[in-house]
Amino acid sequence: MQKTDTVSGGTPALEKALSGDEELLSYSDGVQLMNEENLFLLGAAADRIRRKFCGDTVTFAASYYLNYTNVCAASCPLCAFYRKGNENDAYTLSTEQIVARSKIAVEQLGATELHIVGGFHPKLGLEYYENMMRAIKAEFARVTIKAFTPAEIFFIARVTRNSIKEVLLRLKSAGLDALPGGGAEIFHADTRKQIVIGKCSGEEWLDTARQAHELGLRSNSTMLFGHVEKPEHIVDHVIKIRELHGKTKGFTTFIPLKFSLENTLLEQKGLVTAESPSTYDLRVIAVSRLLLANVLNNISVYWVALGKKVAQVALSYGGNDLVGTAFSEEIFKAAGKAGGTSIQELATLIKEIRRTPVQRDTFFNPIRRVD
Ligand code: SF4
Repeated sequence: MQKTDTVSGGTPALEKALSGDEELLSYSDGVQLMNEENLFLLGAAADRIRRKFCGDTVTFAASYYLNYTNVCAASCPLCAFYRKGNENDAYTLSTEQIVARSKIAVEQLGATELHIVGGFHPKLGLEYYENMMRAIKAEFARVTIKAFTPAEIFFIARVTRNSIKEVLLRLKSAGLDALPGGGAEIFHADTRKQIVIGKCSGEEWLDTARQAHELGLRSNSTMLFGHVEKPEHIVDHVIKIRELHGKTKGFTTFIPLKFSLENTLLEQKGLVTAESPSTYDLRVIAVSRLLLANVLNNISVYWVALGKKVAQVALSYGGNDLVGTAFSEEIFKAAGKAGGTSIQELATLIKEIRRTPVQRDTFFNPIRRVD
């Protein structure tokens, strides 16, 4: 890529990002971009790199969110979703209920993907998860099942006394197609110990994702930002994703998720008093694009957490994907965010910023242009 003076005047790290070389940005480059770079120059650079790798299409999937249980052995201060099992609103779906919801997703809503995640239920055996996969595939052979984050897989392995590999192999043979990317949060222990309790470490998340990739299961990758993290922890996290993807090529996309505050322990304890400003959110997305350039091309903008208007702006700060329709989303809803939209509304949001909406499958293969 030719160096251009349309975004000149930036820090040395920004100059390096725009040099056209394939040299990856370093940790200290990333920290400089997080701490010092002019936001508009940063956005312009991220947009330029986005266009180079992804063109002007914005993709999204028709995805249905299915949260099979809110019962959780962990107690993460970042989470508004979990219940301990004795509350009135604790629930665990039966296989029949899951198939009934899948029917609505596939036949009424046109979902091509079921995004299935839940709490760390301490009493469910591996058979529960296998039966879920088999029952869905028996009815809807063509739907893609993207289920169980690396954090859930790690927990299921522990609680069912199986190896991670055994859990992944059994679920894959029962019908699992791909993994979502949740549970990554922030890998750095200084932040992680403040926001999660009872969840795997960053290293364990990465190792579980690696094992999934090596078995042919691709996955999303995520980062939850906008709570107690330091800018350095953002950079550290993205570089760890980059390093693993460089080895396995197993991530489909990177999704920086904005933290939603409402009803969380972080809010109740006064550890976080406000959600992050949109300027910070855009900076994180732009820096992610620049750090991942030449390695992982898809940067997804999660409109449920950002809000639709900021999500539109984020598509000009490095984003090339809107994740999906998020039919029936419950986890961010518990923290005060409205989820679920239509294919047409996502297409309209994209067309309003003069980009081309394309519905995709789970693996980023285009399905159709949406006019
Ligand atoms: S974030 Fe996940 S693991 Fe942590 S309490 Fe919530 S549901 Fe459980």
